[in-house]
Amino acid sequence: MKLSFLSYLECSGCGENYNYAELNTFCPICQSPLLSRYDLESARQHVDRDAITHRKKGMWRWHEVLPVLNQENQIFLGEGDTPLLSLPHLEKELRLSHLYVKDESSNPTGSFKARGLAAAISKAKELGVEKVIIPTAGNAGGALAAYAARAGLRAHIFMPKDTPFANIEESRMAGADVTLVDGLISDAAGMAGEKARNEGWFDVSTFKEPYRVEGKKIMGYELAEAFDWQLPDVIIYPTGGGTGLVGMWKAFDELETLGWLENTKRPRMVSVQADGCAPVVKAFKEGASFCDFWINAHTIASGLRVPKSFADHLILQDIYESQGTAIAVSDESILESQSQLAAMEGIFAAPEGAATLAALKELIKQGWILPEERIVLFNTGSGLKYIDHK
Ligand SMILES: *Cc1c(COP(=O)(O)O)cnc(C)c1O
Ligand SMILES: [Zn+2]
Repeated sequence: MKLSFLSYLECSGCGENYNYAELNTFCPICQSPLLSRYDLESARQHVDRDAITHRKKGMWRWHEVLPVLNQENQIFLGEGDTPLLSLPHLEKELRLSHLYVKDESSNPTGSFKARGLAAAISKAKELGVEKVIIPTAGNAGGALAAYAARAGLRAHIFMPKDTPFANIEESRMAGADVTLVDGLISDAAGMAGEKARNEGWFDVSTFKEPYRVEGKKIMGYELAEAFDWQLPDVIIYPTGGGTGLVGMWKAFDELETLGWLENTKRPRMVSVQADGCAPVVKAFKEGASFCDFWINAHTIASGLRVPKSFADHLILQDIYESQGTAIAVSDESILESQSQLAAMEGIFAAPEGAATLAALKELIKQGWILPEERIVLFNTGSGLKYIDHK
């Protein structure tokens, strides 16, 4: 039995195909992200959906639709299989009947970045990479450092100097080489990109290699399974680089092709950003297919401080296709929702996760969400990582 049904890489821009046995970044022809394609027809015949449910917990139980070919290369720190929690008190308060949070804070290093970096570092190791580099707004650095340490890879991390202290410390603790940049993640990305080119280090920036999105897509598989193979009505997702949103939409496509879903009804995808950095929201309102670079990005939700995602086109395409929407919320409403989630439900969410509750309240007010719909908020990380040690 094959561990993975990975078959080739496809450019999301021009459709060119690439060989997965080689080390790929993004499409050299049109500079778009590459997506992994699997032989799903064959998987459909050979893989039993319900057998996966009974495997040992964690992201790698979905190995047939993940890119790693040899089990020894799966770097596992406990990522995946996060709880889908109901929110009974908020449900009552907001007059909803099916409100849930997918709580990603229990992942290694306290955020869902662990999923993406688990996949990317495992695959990089499999392809013989020894040194990796990343520009990060915070959590991706910590996750990269941990998985690189576990895999025996050398990690170089470029982060803005106002990145939450926990992210800097966890990266250094795991032995990564940390450079603090006077600027935004886009400035860090410029510096890291140049280093990568000059030194030959492998760049694991969001969507500049094909596999982080593969780790994150497993959130979509887990949701389908948790809802008895019928997807929820609305998914509210805090969007920076968009890996989770694009990944989950890709998972839904794959699930449909695999024949694992009970019906074809798809969730409406809601992209949440902060007032101080909302390139996706602006583009969505204009009906555009790409984002403009957001000047002067600022928000306490550091994971949302991404002025322009490398996958902006895919994010927008998936929102449109899902008949979803994009919405920006203020830092004040994020802080208020963060307290509310903790005090009412006992969940100390990252500001990015709290932003989804702030957005939900706004969408209810607008009448965009109906009371009986099944709604999933994404808490993408732990609030503990944002406490300032001054
Ligand atoms: C990175 C990050 C995000 C944004 O995730 P993308 O997949 O890049 O859109 C949201 N929340 C937290 C806590 C993050 O670390
Ligand atoms: Zn291309």
